[in-house]
Amino acid sequence: MKINRKDFLKTGFATGALAAAPAVQAQPRTQGVDLEKYRFHPLHRFSNDEMVIEREQQGKPHAGKVLAAIQPHSDDIPIFAGGLVAKLIHEGYRGYLIRTTNDDSAGSGRTRAETMLNDERDTAAVAKALGLEKVYDLSYRNHNLDEINIKELTARFVFLIRLLKIDTIISYDPWVPYDNNPDHYITARAVEAAYTGRWDYPEQLDVVQPHGISERYYFTRRGPQFINRIVEITSHIDTKVRANMCNVTQGPGGHNGRRLKQRLAQQGLKLPILGDTDESADFNYIKHIVLDLDSEVHRLTPSDREVGKPFGLEWAERYYYRGRIPSKLDGYIKQNAVRL
Ligand SMILES: [Zn+2]
Repeated sequence: MKINRKDFLKTGFATGALAAAPAVQAQPRTQGVDLEKYRFHPLHRFSNDEMVIEREQQGKPHAGKVLAAIQPHSDDIPIFAGGLVAKLIHEGYRGYLIRTTNDDSAGSGRTRAETMLNDERDTAAVAKALGLEKVYDLSYRNHNLDEINIKELTARFVFLIRLLKIDTIISYDPWVPYDNNPDHYITARAVEAAYTGRWDYPEQLDVVQPHGISERYYFTRRGPQFINRIVEITSHIDTKVRANMCNVTQGPGGHNGRRLKQRLAQQGLKLPILGDTDESADFNYIKHIVLDLDSEVHRLTPSDREVGKPFGLEWAERYYYRGRIPSKLDGYIKQNAVRL
């Protein structure tokens, strides 16, 4: 049937089809767009920034790989990345702990020197609790890392990367704003700048071999941060708790749990979540209060339980992750190459 244009227009108006057209145009331009993909400004995203849920794995899939957990202070890695370190070690990594400052301004001790000693001992205990093989204490002054020549710190990292053949680095994110502690951002930027090509610090190559980093996990203690990886740590949360318990001098360790239990008992009260013994109170105080309910840190960022919740995970940590970027040309060749 031939449609008479005049009739079609008339019919269109009669049924409202054309009348509806302007309303369609007026709808928000985001309709049908997956907004999750645009949580960062599109121009600021990298092509490999898809959100990944890194689940716990069976066996030793990372056997043969080496990680470095790098922190300015004895309590940073345990609080923000203790679960990831425990997970990767459990899954086959070998690892080292590198601490850039001497923590001489943080924690308890009758003198500054005694505080340093206490922090040094706590750091060694943290490494042991997380299954790390050795601590490298670089011993710059606490709260004063912005007074150093950052190239010196970078060169020390490059040497350690080559010496220990480090594949994976876990560190503070070098590019997040609003962290007022120079130890955090100077350490992070020195890590970020630790290029290990054959022309970088060539004199080192008389004693160590060239070696490059493959993967980086960056955490922050304050937002905002690019997040592209959620790491499941449910099976490793108790190891993370034990690592935090080692930080008696400045961190959340010590007898906070039993002190709270005793204070409540004097008022005729108890918190069942703390358990019945002093030991359970100290453990559960870290697990359920410091890492979940309330702590100075998690008033600023989501707790490990809150991070996991939207993804159906009981406990999780969040990171900006950077790995090797696959070659687009390789992919194109695989899909399009034909026999000669
Ligand atoms: Zn710190």
